[in-house]
Amino acid sequence: LVVLSNVNKHFGALHVLQDIDLSIARGEVVVVIGPSGSGKSTLCRTINRLETIDSGSITLDGKPLPAEGRELARLRADVGMVFQSFNLFAHKTVLQNVMLGQLKVRKTDQATALEKAKALLDRVGVGAQADKYPAQLSGGQQQRVAIARALAMDPKVMLFDEPTSALDPEMINEVLEVMQQLAREGMTMVVVTHEMGFARSAADRVVFMADGKIVEQATPEQFFSAPKSDRAKDFLSKIL
Ligand code: ATP
Ligand code: MG
Repeated sequence: LVVLSNVNKHFGALHVLQDIDLSIARGEVVVVIGPSGSGKSTLCRTINRLETIDSGSITLDGKPLPAEGRELARLRADVGMVFQSFNLFAHKTVLQNVMLGQLKVRKTDQATALEKAKALLDRVGVGAQADKYPAQLSGGQQQRVAIARALAMDPKVMLFDEPTSALDPEMINEVLEVMQQLAREGMTMVVVTHEMGFARSAADRVVFMADGKIVEQATPEQFFSAPKSDRAKDFLSKIL
C-alpha cells in the first residue's frame, strides 16, 4: 500500500533519512522504534508529505505522492496522522473538529458528516464530550478525538507519532486500546511509540531505526527475544 524506495533526506548537513526501503502492506501494523533523533518522526512526516524528500520515491496505492493543491489535501486525508500533541482546533467543538475535514476535503454533506462524527466519537469513547471544546477535555480524551478526526476521512493508512508520550500514565491505556481495536479491525498503521507492550501485542512488524537508517526489521517475537544488531541490543537493554 505504501512503498518507500531508496529514500534520502537531509536537514542541512544532517543526513536524516538514509536509503530507506520500506513497504507497508494493506492491513499491516508496523511499529517504528529507535533512539531519539534517529529519524522516526521525519519518516512518518514524509509519508503524508509534511516533509519533502531529496531522492528516492514514495508511493501510495502505486501512485507517487502529489506535490500540491487539491491532490495534496486529499493525500493528507488518505494518510491520517496523530501526533504527540493533539493539534485539535481550539475554537471548535469536539464535534466540529471531527466534521470539518469531511465537509471541506471530502465534500460530505452536513447530515452525513454529523452522523459519522457522532458514531466515531462514540466508537473512541468520547461521545458524551461532543459539544465541549478541546481545552475542557483530558489529554487522553483529546487524543481520542484526534484519532476520530483522522478516521472521519476514511484514511487508507494511519500514522501515529508517539501518540501517548504527552499523556499522564493513567490515560495512556485508553488511547492504546483504541489503537489496538483499530489494528484488529485491519487498519493499515505505522506507529512510532515507546510502548513496547503495544509493539509486542499489536505489531505485525517492528522496524528499528538508528542514525537515519533502518537497522533491523523483524516480527515482535523475533525482535524482542533475539535482536540481531548491536544497536538494537543496546537500545533494548536501556528500555526494557
Ligand atoms: P524523537 O524520538 O526524539 O522524536 P525522532 O527519531 O523522531 O526523535 P526526528 O524528529 O525525525 O527524530 O529527527 C531526526 C533528526 O533530524 C534530529 O537530529 C533532529 O534534530 C533533526 N531535525 C528534525 N526536524 C528538523 C528540521 N525541521 N530542521 C532541521 N533538523 C531537523
Ligand atoms: Mg519523533
